[in-house]
Amino acid sequence: MRSFVHSTAAQRIVFGAGTIAEVGPELDRLPAGRALVLSTPGQARRASQVTGLLGSRAVAEFTGAVPHTPVEVTEQAVDVAQDHRADAVVAIGGGSTTGLGKAVASRLSIGHLVVPTTYAGSEVTPVLGETSGGEKTTRSAPDILPDTVIYDVELTTTLPWAVSVTSAINALAHAVEALYAHDATAETDELAIEAIRSLVAGLPALRADLAGLEARAELLYGGWLAGRCLGAVGMGLHHKLCHTLGGTFNLPHAATHTVVLPYAMAYNAPAAPRAMSLIAAAIDRNQAPSGVQALIQELGGPTSLREIGFAAADIDRAAELAVARSYPNPRELTRAGITRLLQHAYAGDPIQPS
Ligand code: NAD
Repeated sequence: MRSFVHSTAAQRIVFGAGTIAEVGPELDRLPAGRALVLSTPGQARRASQVTGLLGSRAVAEFTGAVPHTPVEVTEQAVDVAQDHRADAVVAIGGGSTTGLGKAVASRLSIGHLVVPTTYAGSEVTPVLGETSGGEKTTRSAPDILPDTVIYDVELTTTLPWAVSVTSAINALAHAVEALYAHDATAETDELAIEAIRSLVAGLPALRADLAGLEARAELLYGGWLAGRCLGAVGMGLHHKLCHTLGGTFNLPHAATHTVVLPYAMAYNAPAAPRAMSLIAAAIDRNQAPSGVQALIQELGGPTSLREIGFAAADIDRAAELAVARSYPNPRELTRAGITRLLQHAYAGDPIQPS
């Protein structure tokens, strides 16, 4: 029997090429006039670009965003925001910068405008994962959802090919798990299928024309749709496993999603036949799990946990953590089953079409 909770939150999306020029007018609309501009150290040049566009409306920059939103870094950024009496944050970058923006804006109850530069999708979710003392905890609240998102396709042209692949597969994972989510609706199914089509069309198109804006637009559009899936329904085994691998074993976020996705799909496939046939149709392959694995191989993405720094000795502990708390997933989670999944993912074993 169907049973779900569906909330619709207000958020403004501006999508296009060259849309970064709208950052000033969009800040005015919040309304806000004293912005703290956030980025990672590697994207500091982009933060300066935003400061240049905002003029006196940018009161400070904090370019220390790092993955997994450590509380110590958030506290430093909160101090800067308070010292400068900021009434909004403008976060430019990937999920790490968006996470810091969410942490600062929700603590101070100030505006939040995001300019995403990857396909992580965090900018359209009310979810925040934070690390403290080596442990990552996630919370969801309406005030965590950013107020405005400016998607500027031109800003994604600097994303290296390898990161474009892993980031797009990270987005694909949101759409895949949305299709077998316990609280999926017709609306989220449509979003997920369109996200999968855009992402899977965009990647080969980008490889054929690395400087082209069309493929980048397709990928960023797919990233937005996939992010909306992530924000709308509960994620299952794949996201929980990646959360454990990233938060506890410090594996790189998007690359971990890329390795684990086909194995998590293969695990869930017997219990989610409808989702698997929708995914197979959307990616135009005979089978969903082996099809996604073949796609990642063709694109040159990472295919084993071993190659991204995971140690075989940690498989047991990761499996124990992954089944420690129960959550909705189409197939029952057993420690032995997850251990086998991780062994296959560690070695990069081929997924046999069933
Ligand atoms: P990231 O933000 O860490 O970015 C990866 C690297 O790419 C960084 O060094 C960054 O400076 C660089 N980069 C970003 N955009 C670039 C561009 N256009 N050109 C060149 N370099 C660029 O990684 P991510 O994968 O975007 O985000 C991962 C983080 O986001 C994780 O902490 C994850 O937990 C979080 N996340 C949260 C949610 C949520 O809903 N809460 C959703 C997805 C991801």
